[in-house]
Amino acid sequence: MENSKLDIIKVNNLSFEKYIDKEDIKKNIKLLAKSINIKFEHKDPVFLAVLDGSFMFTADLLKRVNIHSTLSFVKIKSYEGTESTGNHKELIGLDKDLTGKHIIILEDIIDTGLTMKYLINELNKINPASITITSLLIKRDALKFNVEPDFALFEIQNDFVVGYGLDFDGYGRNLKHIYKVCKPEPVIS
Ligand code: 5GP
Repeated sequence: MENSKLDIIKVNNLSFEKYIDKEDIKKNIKLLAKSINIKFEHKDPVFLAVLDGSFMFTADLLKRVNIHSTLSFVKIKSYEGTESTGNHKELIGLDKDLTGKHIIILEDIIDTGLTMKYLINELNKINPASITITSLLIKRDALKFNVEPDFALFEIQNDFVVGYGLDFDGYGRNLKHIYKVCKPEPVIS
């Protein structure tokens, strides 16, 4: 990973430009925590963080949550299927004791919405009291499935992003800001 004064960085062999500053992330997380503290006071909610991408968002948000609550982690494994089987997913780590609880999902990004639709479907099977969808980012133009987050911190363009927990081939999760991939410059002959 390389840093330069121009806010252009390299992750693996791709260039990314600074897109969302850490101070703006901090500001929106503060507002989100305030809303959650009010909405879920006396409801003993459980935050359900979806690994790996939401780890930084979860840590920063939870530091500002001051209501009686718990935290649990899940992981969603995707298997690229053949054309006939399609995309198969598996939910790992779900605690069955969440029945009757108010669940607040913490996700890094909603792209097509397929992952979130799958997760909601699985959670409904254990009969929670309520499900609240919270996503750090949403690519609204890419949405193909009917999932509407209750809280989305930033609506972004349909570009690939890294940083603040999100990776490119495993790298870039540690970046403090969020970066989007640089579009190739047109070649003028
Ligand atoms: P969906 O199922 O909504 O199409 O995709 C959601 C998942 O795809 C996210 O949890 C994330 O792992 C991955 N994803 C989608 N867009 C991006 C992106 O721009 N950057 C990164 N790092 N991951 C993404």
